[in-house]
Amino acid sequence: MEGSRESARDVSRRLAYWYRAHKRVLPWRRTNDPYAIWLSEVMLQQTTVEVIAPRWERFLSRFPSVEALARAPEREILAEWSGLGYYARARNLHRAAKDVALAGAFPRTLEGLKALPGVGSYTAAAVGSICFGIPEPAVDGNVVRVFCRLHGLRLEAKAPATLARVRALARPLVPARNPGGHNQAVMELGALVCTPRAPRCGACPLRTLCRAAASGKPEGFPRRPRPATPKTIHLVAGIVERGKKILLVEDKTLVKGHVCVPLFPVRGGQRSANVLRRGWERVVRRSAISLEAVATLRHSVLERRYLISLFTFKEESPVPPLRRPLAALGSEQKIILLSPLQITRHAHGGLMLKVLAAWRAHRAVVRRRPKESGRGEQPR
Ligand code: SF4
Repeated sequence: MEGSRESARDVSRRLAYWYRAHKRVLPWRRTNDPYAIWLSEVMLQQTTVEVIAPRWERFLSRFPSVEALARAPEREILAEWSGLGYYARARNLHRAAKDVALAGAFPRTLEGLKALPGVGSYTAAAVGSICFGIPEPAVDGNVVRVFCRLHGLRLEAKAPATLARVRALARPLVPARNPGGHNQAVMELGALVCTPRAPRCGACPLRTLCRAAASGKPEGFPRRPRPATPKTIHLVAGIVERGKKILLVEDKTLVKGHVCVPLFPVRGGQRSANVLRRGWERVVRRSAISLEAVATLRHSVLERRYLISLFTFKEESPVPPLRRPLAALGSEQKIILLSPLQITRHAHGGLMLKVLAAWRAHRAVVRRRPKESGRGEQPR
């Protein structure tokens, strides 16, 4: 493809026609409110459109303005974010909302947008082009793929140098009129047509200009990074009831700020049950007795793989329920008592849901056991 102004206009025109005819109807495409657009862009990082659409509307009905988000306690925001993963995004949203509320309005320049916590070049360009008409290319993974294929570049997809190269190639194509529509058109093409494994070149408006399509193997562009070897971390977790509630702590292992059953790292050669007993004693100042193995759970957070031995147990002596919802028991960790229903209203992660599901299944098995049977499997 030639790099002339005429060819740039040709690409933009083709994309604009294609986008008008094929774009998906998505709720955030009905607005150019910077708060709503910013939220959609942050939510869409690492998460699919199908998951995000209902969550975006729900988040906006709970925090309808940037001021409302700025005023909200972090735990409420994390609770609303539950299940979306990458919780640093929610914390950054909160911090950035405070900055915007303090300033009285969203910044209207790329530099101003990028100065907000958690806002990088991509988000600044997306929000800036859609809401304020800033002619800057928004370069995400979809856009890298489209441009590497269009120009036949077998570069490493995630390398910073590739991002810079693609940004330089994409910039002259961004029209002064409706730059946001153009950016969304490229991203939409990457999401719907120029897909990673099976690009539908026959349906692509750029087919006749595309070097990767001409090579006959478009899926080979750009180069995929070698998958990192995942690291497995062994943890032990304990679930204990007080009344009808479960004892939880503020998670410090997987996602800070979530409620979770206490988790302790098990190092090579250690017995999970012993680690749990010692950990419980340290955190809650009570002895854990009658341990029963519930399940071994697998859970992933980014590139980390967790293997979690889950036990249920009893505490040595009866303990009165906590009066305050969150209290420090003289240990380094805060503990909280919640019913399973209350847990779903607190900030919690996918692991907590797996723990609850395994625990319920285990209780159902225990209820069916003949009374005279023993306590089951010996904990290791
Ligand atoms: S022709 Fe094929 S490889 Fe090239 S941009 Fe279109 S879908 Fe992607």
